[in-house]
Amino acid sequence: MDIKFFNTLGREKQAFKPIQPGKAGLYTCGPTVYDYQHIGNFRTFLFEDILKRVLLYNGYEVTHIMNITDVGHLVSDGDTGEDKMEKGSARTGMTVWEISEFYTKFFMDDAKLLNILPPARYTKATEYIQEQIDLIKCLDDKGYAYVTGDGVYFDTSKLTDYGKLARLDIEGLEEGTRIEFSGEKKNKTDFALWKFSPKDTKRQMEWDSPWGKGFPGWHAECSAMSKKFLGDTFDIHCGGIDHIPVHHTNEIAQSEACNGKPFVHYWLHGAFLEEESGKMSKSQGEFLRLQLLIYKGYSPMDYRYLCLGTHYRKRLLFSWELLDQSKAVLGRLKQNIIKFKDLSDSSDLSDSSDLKAKYQNDFTESVNDDLNMPQALAVLWGVVRDENLNSKTKLELIFDFDRVLGLGLDKTEEEKPIDAPAEIMELVNQRLAAKKAKDFKLADELRAKVKDMGYDIVDKKDGTEVKSIRN
Ligand code: AMP
Ligand code: ZN
Repeated sequence: MDIKFFNTLGREKQAFKPIQPGKAGLYTCGPTVYDYQHIGNFRTFLFEDILKRVLLYNGYEVTHIMNITDVGHLVSDGDTGEDKMEKGSARTGMTVWEISEFYTKFFMDDAKLLNILPPARYTKATEYIQEQIDLIKCLDDKGYAYVTGDGVYFDTSKLTDYGKLARLDIEGLEEGTRIEFSGEKKNKTDFALWKFSPKDTKRQMEWDSPWGKGFPGWHAECSAMSKKFLGDTFDIHCGGIDHIPVHHTNEIAQSEACNGKPFVHYWLHGAFLEEESGKMSKSQGEFLRLQLLIYKGYSPMDYRYLCLGTHYRKRLLFSWELLDQSKAVLGRLKQNIIKFKDLSDSSDLSDSSDLKAKYQNDFTESVNDDLNMPQALAVLWGVVRDENLNSKTKLELIFDFDRVLGLGLDKTEEEKPIDAPAEIMELVNQRLAAKKAKDFKLADELRAKVKDMGYDIVDKKDGTEVKSIRN
């Protein structure tokens, strides 16, 4: 069965045709490690994980590369403002090298908790400086680069199709509206390939280059590292939608100008997770991390289930109520799995192989249709509810689908409620009353208090359970 993806390049659903039969080269832009990743970032990493799992489910051998941006990403996404890493260093009092290690570790820990399959290789921008210099040399030799007082820039007027991914209206770009225009640039859309270190201060990260001491522009790393590990042309490249107009547009310009070949065949972009107050952003100070969700008593799988419920190209508005619902529905799914496990020994219905094949087909059709996960979940619930399927077949189907869903359903075990001390139960009941009165702030405070005393409150459809954290 064909897999269809909505390709940002072309703005239409297209059947996936790999460069090499049975293989898929996948590059996903990774985190900028100047701070923790928020659950919005993880929405994008989860969509990319689903994409990879769908390819694997269809029998592809996937080579997945993810970069770790530890240099060159400036605050503006363009070529102005401070380096995010240097800013993070000033904020925390750690060196840029220390914060890189620190936040990379937290990113990988959270990714693991969310059951995100690791890439074949994580590539750190600072470990491939020579490859980035080679790319810039290639562009310089071919006449695409020019030097200004603060760096080496790419001359976008030399490409007839610059901006094709974002469908940028180059003529109509007004100065200062979309991309900041520094006086020395030849064109508004030109971007830095290499930035010089300031003359008066020493940067923590800087390297010698044929043009002077400095550091690579943000886009250079992805062009250089994807070339090294996936070749001049590869199958699929992903990121969040914010990457379309600047980062991915400029990766295409650099790679295609240097290599003289198409860069990527399929571009997939995930829509944002947003909060009532607007875009989820780290610059706002306090932001939503997976660890905060865990602290409040949710499991990483509750968040994964929440993300599966909305198509990756639709914006998703986060709310605690939505997370509560996801938690409850996932809990119900697990209760059903436990029930099917109990029943699966007694063959309640004999043969349901045709029906099984139909469900398998419906599921594959859904996930292969541009990763339609809401539809795939509907197929899953169809299986759970179908009285013509026996429990053993239901379990086989559910565990098979979970190769894509990634909810760890095969590890479902009955959680044994415990008898908590009376003072804990008193707080649990006060919290239930607060929830009923819609005083969620008080309810959260009471849950936190219970947690500090070593117990976790688990909300269930038919009440509340208390678990000991220390067991
Ligand atoms: P960054 O660490 O800023 O480089 O971002 C890592 C990934 O998260 C990129 O693919 C971004 O496009 C994506 N991203 C950033 N903010 C959000 C958001 N609110 N929702 C979904 N994805 C996001
Ligand atoms: Zn990138």
